[in-house]
Amino acid sequence: MNPRSLELAPEFSSRVLYGEPMAKHTSWHVGGPVDIYFAPRDAMDLAAFVRQLRPNVALMWIGLGSNLLVRDGGIRGAVVSTHGALAAFERLNATNIRVEAGVPCARIAKQCVKWGLGPAEFFAGIPGTLGGALAMNAGAWGGETWRHVVQVEVLDRRGARRVRPAADYEIGYRRVKGPENEWFLGAQLQFERKPGVNGDAIRQLLEKRKETQPIGEWSCGSVFTNPPGEYAARLIEAAGLKGFRIGDASVSEKHANFIINHGAARAADVEALIVHVQRQVAEVHRVDLATEVRIVGVPA
Ligand SMILES: Cc1cc2nc3c(=O)[nH]c(=O)nc-3n(C[C@H](O)[C@H](O)[C@H](O)COP(=O)(O)OP(=O)(O)OC[C@H]3O[C@@H](n4cnc5c(N)ncnc54)[C@H](O)[C@@H]3O)c2cc1C
Repeated sequence: MNPRSLELAPEFSSRVLYGEPMAKHTSWHVGGPVDIYFAPRDAMDLAAFVRQLRPNVALMWIGLGSNLLVRDGGIRGAVVSTHGALAAFERLNATNIRVEAGVPCARIAKQCVKWGLGPAEFFAGIPGTLGGALAMNAGAWGGETWRHVVQVEVLDRRGARRVRPAADYEIGYRRVKGPENEWFLGAQLQFERKPGVNGDAIRQLLEKRKETQPIGEWSCGSVFTNPPGEYAARLIEAAGLKGFRIGDASVSEKHANFIINHGAARAADVEALIVHVQRQVAEVHRVDLATEVRIVGVPA
């Protein structure tokens, strides 16, 4: 589709970016251009944008791109970025908070500690937004996003907002199944009162993470989900794949479930490495590894 023929309403056509490289918006720093990229001002602006978008234009929302592999040919349609736009954060009562989807998870962890609420420290280990965490049921150190969800606020493809209880979703390990063609604007989360909680717990967890994971390098965290009763990292390491390289992408020496872009990798290198790891692990261990990372877009 020719991006100029997407026919946006005049108030938006001058505010979107045409052909924006997705490599600028993913933690792997790979990914080709999206037809149109829109960074809304707030939830109302976002709803107005979605409302005027032609129904045949594919729409995707992203947070911080920390769980996304965008192929080198890019994305046809529109990408909306929530980070910086959906930023509201408030305490509703003794145990409940309302957080908009663009808020970074690390901020939820810190603010909950300040308010004496928990357990929310695990959010500090997730370098994405609440929207991404809701879409993925992100979790760390035994904590999981959806254990705390009371209700979510969503926007549908026609730009209508509604509130849904957590019971409308089927939740599993890194899996969330809900109504199609809806996106998260925010959520009401519930925690327990933990008056003694302080920042030390977060600092200790982050220290531990730094010892075991290649933090600071370009990755998307764990590439594969853990099979039942197993660790993907153990299977990959035991298959002799630590350090295995395709182009400028390699399996991390520090944590075998991480794939690192050393600077010049293309999405095709990363994807070829994912497929190679899956084949080798299937051959050696007779286990099929499923990807946790979302692979989107078209090849170059
Ligand atoms: C170093 C590192 C460590 C990590 N450690 C962990 C970890 O311990 N635990 C863990 O679970 N994950 C981890 N991750 C992965 C990642 O941070 C999480 O999956 C996170 O929840 C993704 O959030 P995001 O905002 O970056 O989402 P994105 O990567 O932008 O998007 C991920 C998916 O969510 C969808 N999405 C995003 N926002 C919305 C929305 N508002 N409504 C509907 N759908 C939406 C996107 O379309 C996409 O399908 C790690 C990543 C890195 C780089």
